[in-house]
Amino acid sequence: MQNKYNTKPKEYILEYLKGHKNQRFTIKEMYDSIIALGFDINLATIYRNVNNLEKEGKLLKHQGADSKCATYQYVENTDCLAHFHFECIKCGKVSHLGYKETNDFLKLIKNKLYFTVEPQNTYIRGLCDKCKGVFINL
Ligand SMILES: [Zn+2]
Ligand SMILES: [Zn+2]
Repeated sequence: MQNKYNTKPKEYILEYLKGHKNQRFTIKEMYDSIIALGFDINLATIYRNVNNLEKEGKLLKHQGADSKCATYQYVENTDCLAHFHFECIKCGKVSHLGYKETNDFLKLIKNKLYFTVEPQNTYIRGLCDKCKGVFINL
């Protein structure tokens, strides 16, 4: 066990996101969760480190068209930059579509709509298997 007071912010931000790799977070959400774990950190430090991690390709940034808040997700492998993601609007679970399926889909969109999609910025939103049955209350 590492002493949490000696751990670099960048390391525990990454650890936190690795531990929740099927979800994406805003800077504020990361801040709240990391503070709750007992780390002493401020928002500016999170911003700086998250920006660096994104530049290194360790995090995937998603800037929603409908909101000003960017969200970040841990990139398990660089394939995440080249395939589609499905996000559950209820529990936040993110699933990955295979490379071949993504390419088939991109081809279809291109041929039918003459539209080039950027997979890294595309989240398909809906309900996961688990949440489908309990949607009534939302
Ligand atoms: Zn992925
Ligand atoms: Zn769900």
